[in-house]
Amino acid sequence: QEAEQEYCKRTEKSRKLYEVAQRVMPGGDTRTIAFFKPYPLTMDRGSGPRLYDVDGNKYSDFLNNYTAMIHGHAHPYILRHVKTALGLGTAYAAAIVEQSQLAAILCKRIPGVEQVRFCNSGTEATMFALRAARAFTGRPAIIKMEGGYHGTHDAVEFSIAPGNARDKNHLAWAPIPDTRGVPESVARDVYIAPFNDAGAVEEILQQKGEEIAAILVEPVMGVAGVIPPQPGYLQELRRLADQYGILLIFDEVQTYRLDTGGAQRRFGVTPDLTAIGKIIGGGFPVGAFGGRSDVMALFDPRQSGCLSQSGTFNGNRATMVAGIASMELLNEQAITRLEELGLRLETGMVSAIRRYALPASVTRVGSMLNLHFTEHPPADYTSTISPHKGLSKVVHLELLNRGIFTAPRGMWNLSTVMEEADIDQAIDAFTDVMSKISR
Ligand code: PLP
Repeated sequence: QEAEQEYCKRTEKSRKLYEVAQRVMPGGDTRTIAFFKPYPLTMDRGSGPRLYDVDGNKYSDFLNNYTAMIHGHAHPYILRHVKTALGLGTAYAAAIVEQSQLAAILCKRIPGVEQVRFCNSGTEATMFALRAARAFTGRPAIIKMEGGYHGTHDAVEFSIAPGNARDKNHLAWAPIPDTRGVPESVARDVYIAPFNDAGAVEEILQQKGEEIAAILVEPVMGVAGVIPPQPGYLQELRRLADQYGILLIFDEVQTYRLDTGGAQRRFGVTPDLTAIGKIIGGGFPVGAFGGRSDVMALFDPRQSGCLSQSGTFNGNRATMVAGIASMELLNEQAITRLEELGLRLETGMVSAIRRYALPASVTRVGSMLNLHFTEHPPADYTSTISPHKGLSKVVHLELLNRGIFTAPRGMWNLSTVMEEADIDQAIDAFTDVMSKISR
């Protein structure tokens, strides 16, 4: 209550703009995930690691557009390249050199990507990867993980946040729709396994193996709460995919930021197909999917029966140029630096939690972190559920009131333009919030 009052006092213009916007857009915005109560902020601008809202409040950005802005906002190197390129026109229904240049960078860096194709979002990336897997294997069904988020197309809108919907008659592997509007017929081809439980995947494969085209998994679960894979889990999925002749798809839309070669390089497991997005567009709309060249060959229009994959703005110049610049900035030193800053933030957050003896924990992989109101760091979706989960929203508002921008569900991530001082300031704000909620 107190946090909300303070928030409303500071964000009068955001409130007014929200009221205007909601007359013409349901919920006043175009992203369900970005909504929070009492109303979300309207941002004016971003610069480096900072955001400024329309009321003139300044924030350190620890959300980075849900992991997409790895070099902060309006990075001078990216801006310079984009500004020069825009004068050449932006999209022409023909290839541009920069498209194959960005493709070459991704193929060189990501172990499982021999060939790649671009689209405009991570949602499309997972959709096309699944289409490829189904066409390649000639099978209809997929296995996805409970809590796994892969965008908003029909096949993956299941069991993202199933909550208590599962009753005792519910088969463990049956999907629970996360939204209305998805036909039941789609659910017939989706099987669900808990994350970090290769045994559950094996059980499904033993009974349904002949129907299944792909195992789709985030190597580190992002939206579910930055949940790392337990040792051997990804390797075991690789073994099962090989044993059953199905494709292993890594959704690295978030996790590509964990290593220059993505989580697959970090954990040493190579999938057949990979979906990527976010940081590879340098701040512009993007998605891409790639993998084994024998699978990707399905998209070659010179082949009869080639798979359909188009998009009016696929491979557009702004995205390709910004993406190349973003990749150039993301070298091994940048990854090491993000790792150091991530550890510094985790250490500070954990020490604040201990100091006030709160039932909370932090999960982290590289530059991605999540605060959980659970005694132990969760290993799957079910173990993120806690009677104190509502506190995440309070912490979010309290942090906003102290100039720290994070996700309402407790997710934090870092950008390469942050300094130690930014991390320490965030730790101070977080410690202050922990002290307040412990009272
Ligand atoms: N896959 C993962 C793991 C994601 O985190 C997201 C977005 O957050 C997506 C897919 C969807 O990407 P987009 O929002 O670009 O459609």
